[in-house]
Amino acid sequence: MEMKYSMLSPTVTENRSQFVRIDPGNVSRKPLFGLDAEALAAVMVEMGEPGWRGRQLAEAIYCQLVTELSEITTLPRALRERMGAGGWEVGRPRIAQVFTSVDGTERYLVQGGGDGGETVETVWMPEGDEGEAGDGSGEEANSGTRSRATICVSSQVGCAVNCQFCLTAKLGFQRNLSAGEIAGQVVSVLERHGVEVGRERVNLVFMGMGEPFLNYDNFMAAVRLLVDEVGLSPQRMTVSTSGIVPGIERFALEPPEFRPKLAISLNAPNDEVRAEIMPINRRWPIEAVMEAVRKVKLRPRERVTFEYVLLGGVTDRVEHAAEVGRLVRRTGLAAKVNLIAWNPGPGIGYTMPAASAVERFRAALGAEGIPVYVRRPRGRDIFAACGQLKRTVDSEQWSD
Ligand code: SAH
Ligand code: SF4
Repeated sequence: MEMKYSMLSPTVTENRSQFVRIDPGNVSRKPLFGLDAEALAAVMVEMGEPGWRGRQLAEAIYCQLVTELSEITTLPRALRERMGAGGWEVGRPRIAQVFTSVDGTERYLVQGGGDGGETVETVWMPEGDEGEAGDGSGEEANSGTRSRATICVSSQVGCAVNCQFCLTAKLGFQRNLSAGEIAGQVVSVLERHGVEVGRERVNLVFMGMGEPFLNYDNFMAAVRLLVDEVGLSPQRMTVSTSGIVPGIERFALEPPEFRPKLAISLNAPNDEVRAEIMPINRRWPIEAVMEAVRKVKLRPRERVTFEYVLLGGVTDRVEHAAEVGRLVRRTGLAAKVNLIAWNPGPGIGYTMPAASAVERFRAALGAEGIPVYVRRPRGRDIFAACGQLKRTVDSEQWSD
């Protein structure tokens, strides 16, 4: 980079700096969105203002959902102008594109506050998918659409874990999302649907693109913002991990007021099959994952979710169900299993399970005494279903 600069002629350098002024993604803008109350207070103090103005900022950004400094009317105009001149902006990620499914599911491409072009994916399911009620109280059966709306949130661009059945894996790992980019997906979707936090129930599932426990600090910072500032309950949030043991161990130490519920992508009846479809199993086999999960102190009535992707002929046999039943019982955990029929994706050589196989599997697992739910595929037609998130804009890409 340095080399290139020194090789530029003065004229070119001048053109370049003109370009820098025009491109908003390139100016050193400093997003406020993503900072917690303490950091916002520090920003105010740094500008020679009293620290309590940080509260006003937090109110405006996370409760009134302003997107421009000029809308923060609790701050004096002169201060807002000074902030703008100093490079500060609200900088909340925004919804850049919307795909709507015939089932009402919406998939969004959300553009980061700071760095221009790149988008991440977020999904809104107006009626959830029968998988997570968010509080473990068995409210899955409740009726009323709004009470079950679920937002599926991404934690990274791409993913490094490389599960063989997952479309996101095909992207490889691109980068971690910041706390603001994670929380910003949620806030943008809440705003779009006019959700009144505190009056309406919304469930969050951190099950979009990426492995949340490989971006642990930013993920948890986002959770704290969503709890503390936005006012959402951690008991209506579920984070799903492929089984990153050090992440689960840290998670177990989080205080209950900030700890979402936990879902583990089990996906196989034993280590042999799991290692084949999830290479991460060679690093942390099933028993190591279970040992870490047992360290999480569950709340009353809370259950750990085991997700289980049914791959036709690979993980959907009825004897697998018996094995999963034994495995889950042996953990001694208060648990439930969410079955997910595999959603196909281009270039992935698995097959969907037959509907009869899904039903047989469910019945067999139920007979083992394990609470079991079948997750309805949501938004398959717009690539919004589990494991389909890959920034697919053009449906032409759906070719094989
Ligand atoms: N990375 C985390 C969270 C995102 S994936 C994790 O793996 O847990 C969310 C869920 O979707 C996981 O349980 C994963 O096993 C499942 N999944 C991935 N690809 C899928 C596909 N093509 N069809 C159905 N489920 C899939
Ligand atoms: Fe990553 Fe989860 Fe996909 Fe595995 S299933 S590659 S951990 S996003």
